Amino acid sequence: MNKVALFPGSFDPITKGHESIILRAIPLFDRIIVAIGVNVEKNYFFPLEKRMNWIRKVFKEYPSIEVITYEGLTVDLCKSLDVRYILRGLRTSADFEFERSIGQMNKMMLPGLETVFLLTTPEHTALNSSIVRDIIRNGGDASQFVPDQVDLI
Ligand code: ADP
Repeated sequence: MNKVALFPGSFDPITKGHESIILRAIPLFDRIIVAIGVNVEKNYFFPLEKRMNWIRKVFKEYPSIEVITYEGLTVDLCKSLDVRYILRGLRTSADFEFERSIGQMNKMMLPGLETVFLLTTPEHTALNSSIVRDIIRNGGDASQFVPDQVDLI
């Protein structure tokens, strides 16, 4: 069976935490679609094109990984692509509470869908895109928190 997972997020920007989850999921799925969600009401820090190109660059050696953008509900995208697995990372108990609601509601909307969680590795638990953005906004150096291929300047 062809197992395809969708890894949805804003990736504003992609961090070493995202990279680690995706790399660890490679042996679990035949294909992983990294899906950048576009919410018209949200202001993003980095342009969509840039976020997408960074992810492409990070995973260019991995043919099973592709990058797309989408608008609307993640379950609708799963339905249209016939994807049955959503991949998410779990950092903290707060992540768990949030993800449980979304995962359970997604499953109510699309019963064949399963959300697969990977626990964050300890060194990536504190990492999140919003702190990376704050560092950059305030002129700091956030390069240690993003994959080597991501050129934040
Ligand atoms: P969102 O816009 O939904 O917050 P993100 O781009 O922040 O999406 O994250 C997408 C996915 O990546 C989520 O499952 C999130 O838990 C996971 N993730 C984010 N940061 C990390 C990290 N440091 N370690 C592991 N997983 C992470």
